[in-house]
Amino acid sequence: RTVYVNGEYLPETEAKVSIFDRAFLMADGVYEVTSVLGGKLIDFDGHAKRLDRSLSELDMPSPMGRDELLEIHRELVRLNEIEDGLIYLQVTRGAPGDRDFVFPDPETTEPTVVLFTQSKPGLAESPAAKEGIRIISIEDQRWGRRDIKTVQLLYPSMGKMMAKKAGADDAWMVEDGAVTEGTSNNAYIVKGDTIVTRQLSTDILHGITRAAVLRFAREAQMKVEERPFTIEEAQGADEAFITSASAFVTPVVEIDGVALGGGTPGPLAARLREIYLDESRKAAI
Ligand code: PMP
Repeated sequence: RTVYVNGEYLPETEAKVSIFDRAFLMADGVYEVTSVLGGKLIDFDGHAKRLDRSLSELDMPSPMGRDELLEIHRELVRLNEIEDGLIYLQVTRGAPGDRDFVFPDPETTEPTVVLFTQSKPGLAESPAAKEGIRIISIEDQRWGRRDIKTVQLLYPSMGKMMAKKAGADDAWMVEDGAVTEGTSNNAYIVKGDTIVTRQLSTDILHGITRAAVLRFAREAQMKVEERPFTIEEAQGADEAFITSASAFVTPVVEIDGVALGGGTPGPLAARLREIYLDESRKAAI
């Protein structure tokens, strides 16, 4: 695999980052994951805008503009012959000469910029899309600025392991009795003809897929309610699903051992997935 590190395209075995990098020592970095379908980028501009927002919330300068970032994404797709897959991008506050809690001066410490591809043939035809996934609920023990897409992914990673251990596929996190989001996705339930998902705040990541899916849902005259919901309400819902750049719209068929819709994916989630994939492929660049 050819990867991008600080201005260079290199074989992955030759790519190097300092041990003093603040993302390595303090998780002081942000990231984005953009999916590639048919060799094209899905919602690149949404991801580029959220990257800028994450950087500015952490007082980090933007390392490059949208056009240069797009060029690097495209070059990596080309060099690695990615048909379907993902592009991971990480920007860190860089590697000052030593470990220090105080932010280094951005005039003297350059950000670290790393991008790599993950080839995923058939990304849009995963078994999870047809069969649905099973989730468990866990307490949300993450920090309070989940709207910033930082590389602090230890708790979400632990959540995935808790799900695996319980024989499930993923976990929804719960705070003050209401679902915040999935370990790496936004969470939704369907009641009758209404889609319910938590409103945007600092409690959740503002999913790029969420924004697109809610826009398509409203355009298709579906009803959308942005409000918190409980696990009990979700267990009594007609359908449930998740969204993310890599899972698109994926149905949920079981929550804490309770089957939804007889344990098979629901029609509204299936329709939304189809609309999302169709529209996103059309708009891909
Ligand atoms: N919430 C969390 C916690 C996530 O990690 C992700 C995926 N990175 C999402 C939601 C979904 O965001 P997106 O649709 O932009 O991939």
